[in-house]
Amino acid sequence: MSREFADRVTRIEPSATVAVSNLASELEADGVDVVDLSVGEPDFPTPEVVSEAGKDAIDEGHTGYAPSNGIPELREEIADALGERGLSYGADQLIVTPGGKQGLFETFQALVDEGSEVVLLDPAWVSYEAMAKIAGADLNRVDLTPYDFQLEPALDDLAEAVSDDTSLLVVNSPNNPTGAVYSEAALEGVRDLAVEHDVTVISDEIYDRITYGGVEAPSLGALDGMGDRTVTLNGFSKAYSMTGWRLGYIAAPEDLIDQAGKLQSHSVTCATHFVQHAGVTALRECDEFVAEMRDEFAERREMLADLFGDHGVDVPLGDGAFYMMVPVDEDDQAWCENAIEEAHVAMVPGSAFGAPGYARLSYAASEQRLREGVQRLADGGFLG
Ligand code: PMP
Ligand code: GLU
Repeated sequence: MSREFADRVTRIEPSATVAVSNLASELEADGVDVVDLSVGEPDFPTPEVVSEAGKDAIDEGHTGYAPSNGIPELREEIADALGERGLSYGADQLIVTPGGKQGLFETFQALVDEGSEVVLLDPAWVSYEAMAKIAGADLNRVDLTPYDFQLEPALDDLAEAVSDDTSLLVVNSPNNPTGAVYSEAALEGVRDLAVEHDVTVISDEIYDRITYGGVEAPSLGALDGMGDRTVTLNGFSKAYSMTGWRLGYIAAPEDLIDQAGKLQSHSVTCATHFVQHAGVTALRECDEFVAEMRDEFAERREMLADLFGDHGVDVPLGDGAFYMMVPVDEDDQAWCENAIEEAHVAMVPGSAFGAPGYARLSYAASEQRLREGVQRLADGGFLG
């Protein structure tokens, strides 16, 4: 039969990060040894204490539906954790979601209509564009590439993009895919524009605990005037290496929680009940785990900068997350395709993030695999 699909799906592409990682897995299933530096997934097992808490929660019978917005115990714990970042959200200003992605999805659906304007800062994580388009947004993109991926020097450009017509602005620091951490002054600039034009801002802080060299990532919602206009997104995937558990949350003003909560109740109902109990343990007991993982990432980041430097490639380093943007050919798509097919090294084309000419490398891989990856790229003539 000839089937017509809705515009909201035909106007988007599959996630490039997920697609490259799927391709790497397929090649591996065919027996190819792929150095997979594509997906942003910590290469550490979930802390044992968290896994035990999840198992205990199953044994204790927490296997039914949970309250749609999340179990009170976890929401209280999250509100406390946000408080430590200077954010004052109450437990009733939170929705616990099956992964941060679902929280973002609900936020876009709640705020963006057909023709609404959404402003993104490029390079931007692939799913913002897709989620905005699904909701019918017109995208307005500000390119931070000329400013070494930093926001502060781009504030004038941002001021030109944001207007009274803007419905939503998305800020992500520490940033995927660049690793950039935006300064307090940059966030104050965002605040001033948001207040002037009455704009709601998503602050995606999912990498907030992964920063280097003593740098801390300030939180937008903690700035004066931003409490009522910020949706703070965070989750457990990255900080606690819990990608497959699917656990995240949005913290937002109550009117937005009411609207987004309707979407949650009619779609996924709730985040998995026993997983939420594991989340409580992650927040209470895993600071040391986070610190150790962060130290390991810090060493890899330095090592990679040196290795690329040895091959004459100057890679701009951010102060957070576990990604770097490697400058490659103008046609980054073709570069990535050839790198995976010929050198068996998987990276994600920068174009997918609005940054052509780069490929994103995730250093959530062992030091040995990272060395192997760079060596293969060099041997294959991919580094100039
Ligand atoms: N935001 C950013 C910037 C991300 O990189 C990710 C990665 N998955 C997410 C949100 C969502 O993560 P998750 O759904 O696993 O919580
Ligand atoms: N956020 C990670 C990445 O950028 C995981 C995949 C995804 O959700 O996009 O690779």
